[in-house]
Amino acid sequence: VNSELDFEKAEEIAMEFDRLVEMEEQVDVIEELLKEEEEDETDMIVRPPVVCVMGHVDHGKTSLLDKIRSSHVTTGEAGGITQHIGAYVVETSNGKITFLDTPGHEAFTSMRMRGAQSTDIAILVVAADDGVMPQTIEAINHAKAAGIEIIVAINKIDKESANIERVKQELIEYELVPEDWGGSTIFCPVSAHTGEGIDELLDMVSLTAEVLELKANPNRKARGIVLEAQLDKGRGPVATVLVQKGTLHVGDAVAIGSAHGKVRAMINDKGKRIKTAGPSTPVEILGLSEVPNAGEVMMVMDSEKEARSVAEKFIAYGREKMLSETKQQLSLDDLFNQ
Ligand code: GDP
Ligand code: MG
Repeated sequence: VNSELDFEKAEEIAMEFDRLVEMEEQVDVIEELLKEEEEDETDMIVRPPVVCVMGHVDHGKTSLLDKIRSSHVTTGEAGGITQHIGAYVVETSNGKITFLDTPGHEAFTSMRMRGAQSTDIAILVVAADDGVMPQTIEAINHAKAAGIEIIVAINKIDKESANIERVKQELIEYELVPEDWGGSTIFCPVSAHTGEGIDELLDMVSLTAEVLELKANPNRKARGIVLEAQLDKGRGPVATVLVQKGTLHVGDAVAIGSAHGKVRAMINDKGKRIKTAGPSTPVEILGLSEVPNAGEVMMVMDSEKEARSVAEKFIAYGREKMLSETKQQLSLDDLFNQ
């Protein structure tokens, strides 16, 4: 009773009782770090919208993304090679649009759970020959819960059996009412096969982005979110990060969850090595100590030492979080009363 225990030991003993010892100080530190600083409006400039494509399986999400990419990314850009980094930027007459190409809702959901938001606008793809299906509803719920603007793309209008009116009718139940029916939701009939309606869809994305007044300060230390990451045989841990604020530079010290490091190289969605990446830019980064998780926040720190120390705090914090999900919390008194 009179001997002191270090944290590790206390944790070990607590685990024997299926309980958790809180390390409150650590949690505070992490929460403090993740807090968003107030930014001066005068430092903010317009940034491209970040768009994800959601919808029921087989309604044409992949086809739509492919069509947009192939018709809006000039082939010369990467010598004809299209790099897959989980996101890409298209150039339109109204400016850039960043598309997230991460499969399924998983990354999206985990980001939301971590309180991080990656997407500004969701394109809800509904096949005109199939209508509203379970994953359509799921997608609507996800987008609404995250407060993301929804644009409906009624796809496959080239098909004989397409019924645009029916889709509009079905979506009323989910409060997605077209403007011509007195609502405020944008509906775009498209065909990912013929390309019909896609330019109009992109126009609507830009218009929506304008209304949302999406801005970021490019002149600060970068902050972003991991879209996907993996261990590459030759290159080590590789993470695709969406820069959300500030500008990321080669050589920057970064902390991402329990990973840290110095950005050794950056590769953009066209497979090109770049030195800087501003707001709404997806980039692959090399030089991390380990593979981070999708949805984790990337922070640029003043030094590598600081980045490492943040990562270490995350390790302690993460372990605690994990335990608290499965185990009850307990004070030391409870522990000794067992
Ligand atoms: P995802 O599961 O939502 O990613 O759907 P896919 O893009 O894989 O498309 C599912 C199927 O629908 C594929 O066979 C596509 O060729 C087809 N498809 C997608 N878009 C269209 C379209 O606009 N018109 C027609 N006729 N077929 C389409
Ligand atoms: Mg697909």
